[in-house]
Amino acid sequence: MGVQKAPARLFYDFDVETHVPADHLLREIDRFLDVDAIRQQLKPYYSHAGRPSIDPELIVRMLVIGYCFGIRSERRLCEEVHLNLAYRWFCRLGLDDKVPDHSTFSKYRHGKFRDSDLLRCISEGLVGGHGFAVDASLIEADVDRMNSSAQKEWDVSAIDPDDAPRAVQEYLDVLDDKAFGASTPVKPKFTSHSDPASQWTAARKGPAIFTYSNNYLIDTDHSVIVDVEATRSIRQAEVGAAQTMIDRTEERFSIRPDWLVADTAYGSAGNLAWLTKKRSIIPFIPLIDKSERKDGTFSRSDFEWDEANDRYICPEGKHLLQSRRNYSDPRRKEPKTGRRRYRATKAICEACPSKSNCCPNTNTRFIGREEHEDARDLARLAARSDFNPKAQAKRKKVEMLFAHPKRILGLGRLRLRGPCGAKDEFTLAAIAQNLRKLAKLRPKTAEMRIAI
Ligand code: SF4
Repeated sequence: MGVQKAPARLFYDFDVETHVPADHLLREIDRFLDVDAIRQQLKPYYSHAGRPSIDPELIVRMLVIGYCFGIRSERRLCEEVHLNLAYRWFCRLGLDDKVPDHSTFSKYRHGKFRDSDLLRCISEGLVGGHGFAVDASLIEADVDRMNSSAQKEWDVSAIDPDDAPRAVQEYLDVLDDKAFGASTPVKPKFTSHSDPASQWTAARKGPAIFTYSNNYLIDTDHSVIVDVEATRSIRQAEVGAAQTMIDRTEERFSIRPDWLVADTAYGSAGNLAWLTKKRSIIPFIPLIDKSERKDGTFSRSDFEWDEANDRYICPEGKHLLQSRRNYSDPRRKEPKTGRRRYRATKAICEACPSKSNCCPNTNTRFIGREEHEDARDLARLAARSDFNPKAQAKRKKVEMLFAHPKRILGLGRLRLRGPCGAKDEFTLAAIAQNLRKLAKLRPKTAEMRIAI
């Protein structure tokens, strides 16, 4: 029977590089992680005097390990990097090199990284594509449900910013931000004391909880996340985040998608008008459409829209107008903004053979037209196209991307508080997902290169 004894040798010739398997995930990720620009970007935030700081690249590499392998605690991350050879190799740490203390992460996160928006910049250069999908997922905030105030009791003006915790200060800072305070004038039913920017919601169909929304804009070819945004968990904020991400992607990567697929939450007339008229993006977005009738009478789609003459033409060929008056002042006849109503005359409809199929209970037929009905018409046209089923199938990819951080990376509940904490966590999770994705795609691209 053998007995394992402590080795007698005091000195070893040891190379970490040779002990990391060739097919280790971190080796693949290392190929795509470009952190050379970090020092340049952070240079203005460092003093030229004093002792040298911990290498910011080391902090970033450790954060990437944490989010790639679902190590949420920074204290545990330091222990794992200390013990794991592959992690040491990825962090460029020798066997004797000291791992930074876990408190360092907090200092970097709330200081230099956040000031320089560093975490978002790392995702640059990862993707290029033309068909995008957007969606949002609720992530539970790190708060106690009981530590909150009802709507009537919550008074923002009573908060002293100088004495408030960091998360409350951040809440005060984003009160005019369209992703948070300015997204809607409606006050939430309850507000958390420890993280007031989180949203009280029952949208998960269970007991109401405080949440943030994780918004992803993805390239549908390879499900690579193009941009990420943290918002309140309400529809207006999520739609605003989608527009912000599309514009930011164009600004940073010079990429504007030809088409965008999303669920009904993004199908408001205002958002469709923004996509189609201001950004020339085809929306594959289902509409909330109540114009289709189910009682067998004519629906609005049976009426033809005549843009040039500002009128509808009914199935009997009659004209439905906003007004039939001849005003002496032509300006009074200018089309109104907002929702418009078009109708035929009572005499025409009463003499019509199709009246029982059109307006059996009223004297004449009315058709309503929303302010951006032309944009809604374009979305209806896209929904009838042959490509729509393929686009909707690609939309599932973004839903699958949300399942991964929750189940594998342990991002079912946030660990950091405040809008900036949520933003950092979502961005790092997205970077980790992108790096894992690229590591998996690499063999495919290699095959493609061989084929070419
Ligand atoms: S009832 Fe009036 S609006 Fe309807 S089909 Fe007949 S003429 Fe046209």
